[in-house]
Amino acid sequence: MAPGPGGLTPVFKRGPQHAAKVVALSFDADMTADEGPRAAAGEHFDNPELIALLRRLKVPATVFMTGRWAEEYPDQARSIGTDPLFEIGNHSYSHYAFTTPCYGLPTVEEGGVREEVRRAFGAIRETGARNVVPYFRFPGGCYDDDTLRVLGPEKVTAVQWDVVSGDAFATDADAVAEQVLDGVRSGSLVVMHCTRSAAPVTADAVARVVPELRKRGYRFVKVSELMAG
Ligand SMILES: [Zn+2]
Repeated sequence: MAPGPGGLTPVFKRGPQHAAKVVALSFDADMTADEGPRAAAGEHFDNPELIALLRRLKVPATVFMTGRWAEEYPDQARSIGTDPLFEIGNHSYSHYAFTTPCYGLPTVEEGGVREEVRRAFGAIRETGARNVVPYFRFPGGCYDDDTLRVLGPEKVTAVQWDVVSGDAFATDADAVAEQVLDGVRSGSLVVMHCTRSAAPVTADAVARVVPELRKRGYRFVKVSELMAG
């Protein structure tokens, strides 16, 4: 999207409501810079079953990936980023907060905001991923005008959402599915997660949501298509 007034990073939250019945699912591939030891100890920050399910159901999706995730799972990052079904946006390198407070996330160090974005794109591209789009999702969705101004020269579009799936730390897939089905309107952008660690029931919820939304006449699109209107 074109920059906002004063060179501010533009923010996209949903597609036009009058458009055809389209909906975009987005999945945040979260991994925080200090979670390496937990991954080494066997915790799973990836969710290959979810990606396989999206492929099986032929659901296009946008994955917002942290640089740290791409480094931990380079094969998966490349596989996602070379499959035309998917596109990869930037979810920062470290998944630290860009403004405080933000859900208890550690904060990016002073002056480190642009480097977070650049380093993440570098780590993602380093895996061989090619379908990388100039979109950025703030960790925790936390931002303010100052952050948008500082990020302006990076020429990304910040992508938020209008439907919160509630899949983070959820244990009941039905409740997540219900929240999505209640929230989706034409042009909606849904935020979910691609990490078993913090979102263990997401694949089950998606398996319920997709056939139901299709039954209601919705078509799934990537964020780029939603943005193109
Ligand atoms: Zn996140």
